[in-house]
Amino acid sequence: MPAPVCPSCANLSVLEIGPILNYAIFAGNFTSASKSKLYKCKICGLYFKKPVLDKAQRNARYRVANPGNWRCGFENRQDWVLATRWIKEIGKAGKILDMGCWTGNFLSELSDSWERYGVEINPLAAEVAKNKNISILPLDYDNLPREQWFDVITAFDFIEHLQDPYRFMQSMIKHLNVGGLLIVSTGNPLASSWQFMGSSYWYCAFPEHISFVTKQWFEVISRDFGITVSNYSCFSRAPGRPFQVLKETVANMLYKFSPNTVDVLRFVCAHCTKNQYLTRRCPPAWMSAKDHQIIALKKEIPTGHIDV
Ligand SMILES: [Zn+2]
Repeated sequence: MPAPVCPSCANLSVLEIGPILNYAIFAGNFTSASKSKLYKCKICGLYFKKPVLDKAQRNARYRVANPGNWRCGFENRQDWVLATRWIKEIGKAGKILDMGCWTGNFLSELSDSWERYGVEINPLAAEVAKNKNISILPLDYDNLPREQWFDVITAFDFIEHLQDPYRFMQSMIKHLNVGGLLIVSTGNPLASSWQFMGSSYWYCAFPEHISFVTKQWFEVISRDFGITVSNYSCFSRAPGRPFQVLKETVANMLYKFSPNTVDVLRFVCAHCTKNQYLTRRCPPAWMSAKDHQIIALKKEIPTGHIDV
């Protein structure tokens, strides 16, 4: 089968990285196991997965996502801490939109002087967010009302769920005030742990993770839309203690060269729990790896000329 077209720049110059054995869990719920492949666009630098579920199928699964999924507070989020610092540097409050705000934990920690908006497809999570005085816009990223403008737009752990991240960025930049910030955090396929594991990396084994942007890709975006990179940082989503780091590193190295051995060890050591069954034969987690990135892009000029 020929390599697919890049979903971001529509180029045919695409490199196949390798096969992916997806976890049998989607947004915290059991789903059937599936296989796909990881590709890299040689032109814009986007890594992407094919085949994937279509948008309607994915949205249906997000609507019934397990409420216990993605439960976290500020103390576990280095990206939230960094984003808050960058937002404070603006020097004044205004309107902020958090895409995929889930239960609104990030927005609720901001000062009350911010006018807070969120987009959240999961009705249970959206209800919790509303109770925190967050206005939920019942819309998708590509149909925000034209009159809605924001001083800050955030998207934490969001862009990797989209099949067309370029269109997402285009739409967000259009709804940003001049001088405003667009802050995006997501996994980083250029992290050394990911580069070592290739398509066998745990982060791309989640069936809902389908697009993986790089710093190079953000630079293409900033050039195309006349915005500037004001901050960029790499971080670990769950920095571990030395033993945890060692355990995850050894497990992944072993999986790279002998996945069957890891499977046997899982069966023997993990007492064959439900989670162990759902991740059977799939990559071990590497939560402690420094494999995430956060970027802040500043809109310096009006972009009303961009047609979405
Ligand atoms: Zn591309």
